[in-house]
Amino acid sequence: MTSEQIRALLNLPDMLDVPSALVVEPHPDDNEVGAGGTIKKLTERGCHVVYFTATDGRAGSEDPSVTAEDMVRIRMAERQQASAILGVEGSYNLGFEDGGSWSERDLMLTLVPILRQFRPALVMTVDPWAPYESHPDHVKTGRAVAAALIYAKNGVVLKGQGDPYEVPQIAFYGSAWPNVFVDVTETWESKLAALQAHRSQFDTPLWPMLSAYFGAEAEQLYHEQIDANRPGKAEAFKLLASMQMHFFPEAMRS
Ligand SMILES: [Zn+2]
Repeated sequence: MTSEQIRALLNLPDMLDVPSALVVEPHPDDNEVGAGGTIKKLTERGCHVVYFTATDGRAGSEDPSVTAEDMVRIRMAERQQASAILGVEGSYNLGFEDGGSWSERDLMLTLVPILRQFRPALVMTVDPWAPYESHPDHVKTGRAVAAALIYAKNGVVLKGQGDPYEVPQIAFYGSAWPNVFVDVTETWESKLAALQAHRSQFDTPLWPMLSAYFGAEAEQLYHEQIDANRPGKAEAFKLLASMQMHFFPEAMRS
């Protein structure tokens, strides 16, 4: 059964028609890289979007004249600017150390009460199961978010930390097995502006190369998945109903 068929059976809305979304990123800037055009599109359509950033971004500079504390301050300010450009309503920092020894479970325990409080119609995060994804913060964050979905709906686990809530669906960006492609041609400039708000990361000699790479990748996706006869840009997601997140081996191909 395809993901689309399952979502139709469950009466789940299209990804762009959800009223609220909670987007969890490992580092400040990941949400923009993976989903900036789609997030802008969602907020333009009236969707209430909030960000949660797992780590403080202190590993974002190797310049010895910049202290870790300075880097954290800089990146938190950049994150606020970037999310504001995309129309995000709230941006929260969970404060785990960038590159630190925190565990997937630590983050999962933090996220369960948050999901129960915010009760989003959609959760978005990085795909931790992409082959060759080797950044520990990305793997831990994606898996912690997925595990938090499982426990947020269970009234026995973390009893007393909010009323149980089942997140209906989850969209992973950076997925090797995407099943939803969003036309972000109209919001591409906003995505680039939001990326550039992360000046500590992208105001560098590499930006022309990086922005060209992001653009070429998005154009190829559009050409292959949306319309081969017109130019455009797309972002890709692995969208799953929460019931596909447990004992559902077909999820990879769904
Ligand atoms: Zn990252």
